[in-house]
Amino acid sequence: MDRAEFRRYGHEFIDWLADYFDHIEQYPVRSEVAPGAILSVLPDTPPMQPESMEAVFSDFRKVIMPGITHWQHPGWFAYFPANNSPVSVLAELLTAGLGSQCMLWQTSPAAAELEERMMEWLRDMLDLPRGMTGVIQDTASTATLCALLSARETATGHTANQKGIDVPLRVYVTSETHSSIEKGVKIAGFGRENLVMVRTGEDLGMCPVDLDRAVKKDIDEGRHPACVVATLGTTSSMAMDPVDAIGDVCRKHNIWLHVDAAFAGTAAIHPDHRWFMKGVEKADSFVFNPHKWMLTNFDCSAYFVKDPEILLRTLSIQPEYLRTSADRQVKNYRDWGIQLGRRFRALKLWFVIRSYGIEGIRNMVERHIDLARKFSGWIDAGSNFERMAPQHLSLVCFRYNPGNLTESELERINKNLLERLNATGKVYLTHTTLNGIYTLRLSVGQRNTDVRHVNMVWELLNEIVKDI
Ligand code: PLP
Repeated sequence: MDRAEFRRYGHEFIDWLADYFDHIEQYPVRSEVAPGAILSVLPDTPPMQPESMEAVFSDFRKVIMPGITHWQHPGWFAYFPANNSPVSVLAELLTAGLGSQCMLWQTSPAAAELEERMMEWLRDMLDLPRGMTGVIQDTASTATLCALLSARETATGHTANQKGIDVPLRVYVTSETHSSIEKGVKIAGFGRENLVMVRTGEDLGMCPVDLDRAVKKDIDEGRHPACVVATLGTTSSMAMDPVDAIGDVCRKHNIWLHVDAAFAGTAAIHPDHRWFMKGVEKADSFVFNPHKWMLTNFDCSAYFVKDPEILLRTLSIQPEYLRTSADRQVKNYRDWGIQLGRRFRALKLWFVIRSYGIEGIRNMVERHIDLARKFSGWIDAGSNFERMAPQHLSLVCFRYNPGNLTESELERINKNLLERLNATGKVYLTHTTLNGIYTLRLSVGQRNTDVRHVNMVWELLNEIVKDI
């Protein structure tokens, strides 16, 4: 592609994206293609000769678009939000164009210094302790792996990196904790058998008394408690582990406390909705994802630590070819995470925070929470549906239950209800199980979702159940 073509297609693609955003409601939210449909029309072999951009872009529209599930559709109520915004898309374009590898300060000083300042902004926006230091990770899964590795090194006096683990190191979670923690426990060498499930209460949050009991039992039996992962806003039901009380248990037994607020963290930007952060100053590490609810397109995960020295001691590498004369004065973020190569992610944060302002982000959070409350109110007021968990922030867990059906009938009917709702193409919700019961979830968080879309879910649900 020559420069003139680049310019022309650059304009055309932005026009196409602007039209896509304008007309996104014409697409079914969830892709309707059958498994294998896209693969079957993709050629088996790459082209030997260059193809025109005309042909490639035309295939993008014809072949790829039908297989896209539209996370930016205002009828998006599935899983969790991954909302982007026009400004973050433009910043990503600049990031791609600059093509910088931001592994060392020297490989792009502006990227390193902007990252440092953005993490300070985010820390203050969430009202995290001022002593915490942040770094951008690709995902919460990676941030949590860094926390687990730091906990492992702390628990072994920084010998595990050198010698491996020779005592059982225990990690405490609940059945509601995100699956990335189990994955991290396996990767970091703790072993799946050392992942301890602590009982949850009725609100699906971790019971600190049970945590304390489990820790004492492990100590008595010769195992070594290393890390507790507390979740603020579980993926299934937005349950909140009581970090304040959990922090006391961790301090008493000298255990690393990692807080996973990947989903809910954005709500803490709003002072009226940060109640769940109580005790967060007791955490050794904390993660939240601007790439979920904070208008910043994937990937961008904000990881904060109380003591960066532990992270650096755990992950630092010093090959000669990466040494620079500035090393003593600067942050080289290659030592703050798993990967060496790093994208310039701070740029999109800068664009988003400056163009929305803290007020703009707070207004969005307020609007989404308000919509979830509205829906929750309709569920509670009617007789055909029931709420399945406390309604926190922007998530509502519910099911159809007219009161005269067995549990297995309820499960079958709710599965059918969800499938028929999603088949309308107008909205997309997903499910979970809570205490073994099949549950539907309404997760509000797409940038353009308004009361019309939440109304639509409610109307469609009521229409479909009449027919069931
Ligand atoms: N933790 C929680 C509570 C989540 O909801 C999620 C994503 O759903 C994750 C962790 C994993 O996030 P990521 O995709 O950034 O690794």
